Amino acid sequence: MHRFFIEPEAIADGTAVITGEDVQHIAKVLRLGAGDEVALSDGRKTEYTARIERVEKERVTLRVLSSAQSETEPRCAVTLYQGLPKAGKLETIIQKCVELGVSRVVPFEAARSVVKLSEREFEKKRPRYARVAYEAAKQSRRGIIPEVSGLARLSAEDFSQYDLVLLAYEEERTMTLKAALRRMPEAERLALIIGPEGGFAPEEAALLCEHGAVPVSLGPRILRTETAGMATLAMALYELEL
Ligand code: SAM
Repeated sequence: MHRFFIEPEAIADGTAVITGEDVQHIAKVLRLGAGDEVALSDGRKTEYTARIERVEKERVTLRVLSSAQSETEPRCAVTLYQGLPKAGKLETIIQKCVELGVSRVVPFEAARSVVKLSEREFEKKRPRYARVAYEAAKQSRRGIIPEVSGLARLSAEDFSQYDLVLLAYEEERTMTLKAALRRMPEAERLALIIGPEGGFAPEEAALLCEHGAVPVSLGPRILRTETAGMATLAMALYELEL
């Protein structure tokens, strides 16, 4: 069954109205019409089954048949703080982490980020990143569209909003990801911090630990920055969810 995200406000009194580019997709590409059923997600963890009643040039009107809580959202909301990687990698990181269940991606400029972007320059790229997250959420049947935030400065981040903040630190030799997660099996809000290609400067890691981050090793092998985020996310959700 084809799926579409729809604004919550576009569903009322048993009727849903799809507008925007999905209208063309429904009419011209999928060639759906009256009587066809589709799945709708309001992006806030509610799913609907709806039947098309009318396809017009600018809108598709549907009758809502049923609704249910999304079953694809993890119990634990994971925010991935990703050190700004070299060009082109961030899209892949976003796409794969959305498929894996990330709730939010926060790119940040790390001391050793090779790429230096101003917030303004990053903002120009952000619509593209949001599109990648949207398409990945649609494809993986997510109940939300994970947000890709603006370029963050970790020194200004409020980590108190999380139950647990894990700093994947390549110099950590004692604490493992597994041990850190097992300290808080009921975590509902988790932050994962991944460095860029150059890793973390010691003083940067120390400052993050002062802000409550727990440094963890991901094992004896050094992962690329684009591998580390998705691997850590997958392992964390495996540990916390299954
Ligand atoms: N420049 C670093 C070095 O050669 O040791 C490698 C940095 S690694 C490419 C990028 C990021 O992935 C690191 O900053 C860290 O966040 C994470 N990472 C990769 N392998 C890791 C490991 N074995 N343990 C902990 N973190 C790791």
